[in-house]
Amino acid sequence: MRTLVTGGAGFIGSHLVDHLLALGHDVVVLDDFSTGSAANLARVADAVTTVRGSILDEATVERATNHCDIVFHLAAAVGVQTIVNQPLESLRMNLLGTETVLEAARRHGARLLLASSSEVYGKNAKDSLNEDDDRVLGSPLKSRWSYAAAKGLDELMAYCFWREHALRAVMVRPFNVVGPRQTGRYGMVVPTLVGQALAGRPLTVYGDGTQRRCFCSVGDIVPALAALVMDERAYGQVFNLGGTEEVSVRELADRVLRITGSDSPVVHIPYERAYGPGFEDMARRMPDTTRARELIGFRPRTSLDQMIAAVAADRHGSVRDAVGAGHKESR
Ligand code: NAD
Repeated sequence: MRTLVTGGAGFIGSHLVDHLLALGHDVVVLDDFSTGSAANLARVADAVTTVRGSILDEATVERATNHCDIVFHLAAAVGVQTIVNQPLESLRMNLLGTETVLEAARRHGARLLLASSSEVYGKNAKDSLNEDDDRVLGSPLKSRWSYAAAKGLDELMAYCFWREHALRAVMVRPFNVVGPRQTGRYGMVVPTLVGQALAGRPLTVYGDGTQRRCFCSVGDIVPALAALVMDERAYGQVFNLGGTEEVSVRELADRVLRITGSDSPVVHIPYERAYGPGFEDMARRMPDTTRARELIGFRPRTSLDQMIAAVAADRHGSVRDAVGAGHKESR
């Protein structure tokens, strides 16, 4: 099948491209290389058709979607740092860009998978979040919540395209995906801490470090994306995709130190210093993935220690981008 991956030069997108090529798909990548990089596709560059451009540009999206059977829509403005620093541009990207991609997929009769995010749950800190749980968001005027607001509307838009235009659309909410090629530049916690540990710099933990997260390996996520988009029972539905091992950020820092063999200190940075006054973080975020398990047998297998070791192995030669920056992850 001919398959378009928007954001295919990014972290998750490039792993998805590898997986699709291994399945025998023809792959087209549409990316503006804003947070993605050509290096992520270097090993498969000859096998992939690359369209350099923005999802905001209708003609470019049309060209990339032409003759495609499947569209994976992953391109987005990501990372709390990006959203807080460039709120308007991020909103336009995540709303108007998504509408352009949905419209093109509809025109070409392609199936579509939309990457939403666990951010849509906002501050709901319930034991394990299922897809029907309430969203608890702060004021729309706090830019910090604009990513969650936009991703929620993206889901709704994809759902309406399914209901009203019979677009075969499925939505997924990944929870803190981790793995090789993820950069710490936009505030992702695991590559940031690993980069700091490998460089012998202090590990920066925001707040008191008791906030809890649940990480999932990109290697466990990507096959689920491919399986869901091919399953007609998935259309019109949203699926959580995430891991099972919950950890506090403070404990995560200790594990990073142990696995990398670093003796760096851990320093705590107040949220206000990182993001300005009034920043709200969520105390925990833990997925219930029963829906994906029952439909496609989704069962993440990679332990957190294995994820940290894989990121460390990947980053050994390139630790500089995470050093000096704090971690600002919230997804
Ligand atoms: P990423 O930044 O590595 O990938 C995003 C890609 O989109 C990049 O290659 C970037 O260059 C591209 N892009 C951005 N704006 C674009 C535009 N206007 N036109 C074309 N390309 C554009 O991030 P990622 O972590 O791989 O995230 C991929 C998707 O998964 C995003 O939609 C994100 O919201 C979602 N997601 C990721 C996580 C996670 O933990 N990584 C969690 C939840 C949801």
